[in-house]
Amino acid sequence: MRILIVEDEETLANRIAEVLKKERYEITVAFDGANGLDQALTEPFDLIILDILLPKLDGISVLRELRADGIKTPVLLLTAKDDIEDKVRGLDSGADDYLTKPFAIAELLARIRSLLRRQSDAKSAELVTGDVCVNTHTREVRCSDELVNLTPKEYAILEFLLYNKNRVVSRLSIAEHVWGDSLDSFSMTNFVDVHVKNLRKKITSDNGTGIIETVRGLGYLIRDKE
Ligand code: CA
Repeated sequence: MRILIVEDEETLANRIAEVLKKERYEITVAFDGANGLDQALTEPFDLIILDILLPKLDGISVLRELRADGIKTPVLLLTAKDDIEDKVRGLDSGADDYLTKPFAIAELLARIRSLLRRQSDAKSAELVTGDVCVNTHTREVRCSDELVNLTPKEYAILEFLLYNKNRVVSRLSIAEHVWGDSLDSFSMTNFVDVHVKNLRKKITSDNGTGIIETVRGLGYLIRDKE
């Protein structure tokens, strides 16, 4: 796990780095905001510990730049005082958590573990093929990073096909999964076709083709795409 520490108080930065290295994290330290941003934009990190009051570029600006660049690495903000406005601004700008100085190292470690755990939970909640990503926790669907609005039934069908990626799923098993056995099989399979048609309109990959393939006589299929 790689952690970036952006903190201008060298004693504190080095102390945090030392403790985290003992916990077997790989550590990079930046002593000002500009350097921190540069590091975060060029190297992949699993977590960023970011002080708010920094020379050259303040922590909130660093954070905004990162989020604007699409970098979603969890950020733990360090605030110098118990300033509620800083916290609100930080969380509004995309911070995941904050810690008020001075803090106990044990508290810092606990926050780091919790953020990293949240991050890996979020990753395991994602079903992905090509540029289509479904988050099964938030039920958000993204296509080329754009949020797509699906009806609950459309979502259920897409999620089910993605769970069964690279496998042909029959219209009947989709229908049973989405509607239960409340309908007769003729209506169900027709409903499936209608919803798949709508899904295809909403979800298109880069080259304009849909990700849901029809396998004639058998059902539907979503293939894994890089
Ligand atoms: Ca500072």
